[in-house]
Amino acid sequence: MSDRFRFVVVGGGIAGMEMATYLGNTLGRSGQADVTLIDSSFFHVWKPMLHEFAAGTIPNDRNRISFLAQASRKSFKFWPGALAGVDRTARTVALAPLQDEDGDILLEQRNLPYDALIVSIGSRANDFGIPGIAEHCRFIDNLTEADGFNADFRSLVLQAIGQSSSLQIAIVGGGATGVELAAELHRALDLSSSYGLGMDRADLHVTLLEAGPRILPAFPEAVSVESRRQLEALGITVHTSAQVTGADADGFVLGDGSRVEAKLKVWAAGVKASTATALFTDLEHSRAGQLKVRPTLQTTLDDRIFALGDCSFIRDKPVPATAQAARQQARHLSRQMKGWIAGKPIAPFRYRDRGAVVSLGDYNGWGTLGKYHFGGGPLRGLSARLGHDMLYRQHQMEIYGPVRALAAWGADQLDEFVRPSVRLD
Ligand SMILES: Cc1cc2nc3c(=O)[nH]c(=O)nc-3n(C[C@H](O)[C@H](O)[C@H](O)COP(=O)(O)OP(=O)(O)OC[C@H]3O[C@@H](n4cnc5c(N)ncnc54)[C@H](O)[C@@H]3O)c2cc1C
Repeated sequence: MSDRFRFVVVGGGIAGMEMATYLGNTLGRSGQADVTLIDSSFFHVWKPMLHEFAAGTIPNDRNRISFLAQASRKSFKFWPGALAGVDRTARTVALAPLQDEDGDILLEQRNLPYDALIVSIGSRANDFGIPGIAEHCRFIDNLTEADGFNADFRSLVLQAIGQSSSLQIAIVGGGATGVELAAELHRALDLSSSYGLGMDRADLHVTLLEAGPRILPAFPEAVSVESRRQLEALGITVHTSAQVTGADADGFVLGDGSRVEAKLKVWAAGVKASTATALFTDLEHSRAGQLKVRPTLQTTLDDRIFALGDCSFIRDKPVPATAQAARQQARHLSRQMKGWIAGKPIAPFRYRDRGAVVSLGDYNGWGTLGKYHFGGGPLRGLSARLGHDMLYRQHQMEIYGPVRALAAWGADQLDEFVRPSVRLD
């Protein structure tokens, strides 16, 4: 058995994939450490694209990356399986048995030893236990859920066309996910029309429900106001201060007793850590279930367990649950690890607010430059949309390297030229 230092990264999303890639490419390639990535899925996806997969405006088969392929190129190992347990004394993690689609067991439960465990298992929308939400709403927190939504959406659009009726969709959550999904559904319909699928935009009724006084509460007020104006110009109904208290098969019930009828209901509100953080029973958690970490990104009670991205909560200085923060943390920590295994201290992580952008389909985009980035300022239109895409291209650069990232960008352009611009099957 190898006596090399063993890094185990659990969760290959934005933070975990960048972390495993860097560690594999440096310490793994040079034989200084063994790096293993675990994920419950076989594919890495850029989560901020999920609303586009859900609307069918971006093909998910071209925009997902096989963990096995990435592992073989970047000198780390990949094990498929969900985290099922952690033994901090023995320093092992357990992976749940892997089953095929029929439920037959392909791989029994496995235990993997670690010297350092990096937890980056992300988050989910939070239904706060509101009755009817789990049973009647679609979520779009992973590829399977986005695909499931898309299948429903396409069937219901076809039905509406066949019956010359309208289609009601209601989305709860006026954050970036809900806002972007609402605009993207309209875009999907516009694109479908150009292929002869004649559903009038007026027959698509999308309602966006937000409990707070304005949509996009994490953005400056001007961005909220402009985005709302744009959504309403598209025909989307926006209700703010709308507290959802329940859901049933036909729609949502609001706090004032009124109802919003909808055939397709989406829950895109709140953030809570992935449930597997509860397996770390003797570590500290935030109210949203995230693992509490120090500025070194080490968990407050265990120096060998790190947490990054949406599933972590930096004590005293929390950072937003965004792709940008996840990337910054992965970049910071991955560069510290070589020194740390040689006995050096880890420099504290400092979040740099580089602004935030919300993309409203092809119709517009709004956002801000960060407080410390060129002095800050608003972005709109094309520059905002480019800013949105830029974050994804930077991520590709980190995990692919410049040549393959450029090739991937070129392949995307060719793909757009060749394929229908919306999913039609
Ligand atoms: C529709 C949508 C749109 C968004 N748009 C934006 C945006 O425009 N800008 C922005 O900054 N942010 C956006 N976000 C938020 C952003 O995607 C997240 O903040 C970011 O993905 C967090 O990265 P992460 O690495 O912490 O987790 P993730 O990227 O979520 O990765 C978590 C990984 O852990 C794996 N995993 C989960 N549980 C287990 C388990 N038990 N065992 C093993 N593996 C597990 C998952 O399969 C996944 O690969 C959006 C989110 C959504 C849902």
